[in-house]
Amino acid sequence: MGTKIVTIDLGAKEYDIYIGESLLYRIHDMIPDDVSGGKFFIITDNNVSDYARQVQETLLAQGAQQCETLALHPGEKTKSFEIFQQVCEWMLSHKISRDSVVVAVGGGVIGDLAGYAAASVLRGVGFVQVPTTLLAQVDSSVGGKTGINTSYGKNLIGAFYQPGVVVADIEILKTLPRRELLAGYAEVVKYGLIEDLSFFEWLEEHGRDVCALDSDAVSYAVEKSVRAKADVVIADEKEQGRRALLNLGHTFGHALEAAAGYDGRLLHGEAVAIGMVMAFDLSSRLGLCTKADLERVEEHLAQIGLPTRAAFITPNLTQNAEKIVELMGNDKKVKKGRLNYILVKGIGNAFVSADVPQELVVEVVRDSLGSDDGQSLQEMLQDKWKSVFSSQ
Ligand code: NAD
Ligand code: ZN
Repeated sequence: MGTKIVTIDLGAKEYDIYIGESLLYRIHDMIPDDVSGGKFFIITDNNVSDYARQVQETLLAQGAQQCETLALHPGEKTKSFEIFQQVCEWMLSHKISRDSVVVAVGGGVIGDLAGYAAASVLRGVGFVQVPTTLLAQVDSSVGGKTGINTSYGKNLIGAFYQPGVVVADIEILKTLPRRELLAGYAEVVKYGLIEDLSFFEWLEEHGRDVCALDSDAVSYAVEKSVRAKADVVIADEKEQGRRALLNLGHTFGHALEAAAGYDGRLLHGEAVAIGMVMAFDLSSRLGLCTKADLERVEEHLAQIGLPTRAAFITPNLTQNAEKIVELMGNDKKVKKGRLNYILVKGIGNAFVSADVPQELVVEVVRDSLGSDDGQSLQEMLQDKWKSVFSSQ
């Protein structure tokens, strides 16, 4: 399988995303001259530090002057002010200069944190992303959003900062825990649901191959996803209009994540899978899409092994539907006090609407929370999800 290159054309900030196998051994070839200063600062986490070591060895063997590595504790808590300070001061202690390059080797946590550090230290140094989760390869490494969490909410401090290059080595995904892989797959499905029915149809046929990490299937899915996100980002770099579509399933999903208390029982992509089903349910109740569309989306996500209902979250959420809808109001996407919903007029046809009766939203959430409506489909889906959960 050959390496694919997707160019993100943001005018002066143009950069390439490489998608392929064994890329870490050739990473020096992919780093553009204007980003390769000779001094590299690799930020990683302890679960993927072997890949970081590989990057370090390759860069040093290819003549890098200096290459330092900092391995952090894995997990969302690492995206904090304290660790951000630690990262910046670590770079300064090793005499980082304007022509140095920060290399993020990790999932979205490391990419967001290292990217924000690269944007901030000395007011901006070179930045290279080596995303190691499916979510990071198809979503967080594309688009230039970087940042950290605060006690007031996630991702509230940050900067738009584009990398000089993104190196997505799909072989790295082989060590990713299955639940994390599937959570990333939910974002892949999202691109089909937003604007691309034929990609969704392809996923219905080949989604299993993607999740089994068949090289050609993963490479195609990552490429399609990256192009879909890039198209939207190029059209709308600072999230005014079309970029909002990328939040399909996310307003519901973020509320579920908040209700679950970020305690690990619900991964972001799992919340998004449930949230996308809710968005289709809401759209179908509003007469915008058919019930068949809703069922088709839920069926595909469940076949892959993703949760599709809030009832499947274990241990169960303690909040009722009204409380969860209230949590939706805390989302940072609220504009002038109005909550915008990403709705669909069918698969591949999403749009933004602020015109949604709250009672209907409560009903959608209540049905997603209810576990015993006696439907056999629901039981089947729940069993499927439990088997993935227990295999971890
Ligand atoms: P993550 O970075 O926490 O990675 C998930 C887990 O997998 C971690 O424990 C990590 O150590 C481990 N891991 C990573 N790669 C591995 C590999 N190849 N083999 C074995 N283990 C591996 O989580 P994530 O899902 O990649 O990213 C989530 C973060 O991304 C969130 O903080 C979210 O806010 C952010 N995000 C940012 C954007 C953006 O546009 N910047 C978009 C979406 C999400
Ligand atoms: Zn997401």
